[in-house]
Amino acid sequence: MVKLILATRNEGKLREMRQMLADCPIEVVGLDAYPDVVPAEEDGTTFAENARKKALAVASQTGELALADDSGLCVAALNDRPGVYSARYAGENASDAANNALLLREMAAVADGQRQAAYFCVMALCTPQGECQLFEGRLDGEILRHEVGSGGFGYDPLFRVCGDERSVAQISLEEKNRFSHRARALRQVIEVLKGKFVA
Ligand code: IMP
Repeated sequence: MVKLILATRNEGKLREMRQMLADCPIEVVGLDAYPDVVPAEEDGTTFAENARKKALAVASQTGELALADDSGLCVAALNDRPGVYSARYAGENASDAANNALLLREMAAVADGQRQAAYFCVMALCTPQGECQLFEGRLDGEILRHEVGSGGFGYDPLFRVCGDERSVAQISLEEKNRFSHRARALRQVIEVLKGKFVA
């Protein structure tokens, strides 16, 4: 059976990806099985660059196929910021609360109808020989004027998906996993894995 290393130590992402890959005849392994692997620095300027770096580092150090992702929020009125800096928008190791407070401040003067935003996820599937394929998923929505809901993580209380009344923080994880930017990227990865490695 083909082995796929998920290049993340984030338990939430690991669970989500394992669940989606469950019906593929692929052995999915977390980085916890490789404690000596040194992760790549996330110092790229694009999601693709960071995802590629992370997957290549794990593939080359483990000698196995590796999958990594990089994601974030791009806000039209802020020239697509915070983008790759989403996790550290309000500073290095910033909390979700601090990032959300800064987003509300920067968006305070932006009119209704001009608050479009999108979550992006780029996944990189890399071999130990250094061949990579990239996959992108996006989820369109808008930035609310105050936090709503208590689920999800990151910017979810401030993000309303197009065509939905709720913030993402009011949506169950199971439902979010059906249409999220990560799910959309991962579905493409699964198609490629099935075509390549599964008879
Ligand atoms: P990374 O992909 O782990 O580097 O995460 C980037 C950052 O983007 C996260 O820390 C969040 O701030 C934001 N982000 C990515 N995906 C989501 C999501 O599904 N909901 C809320 N925030 C997200």
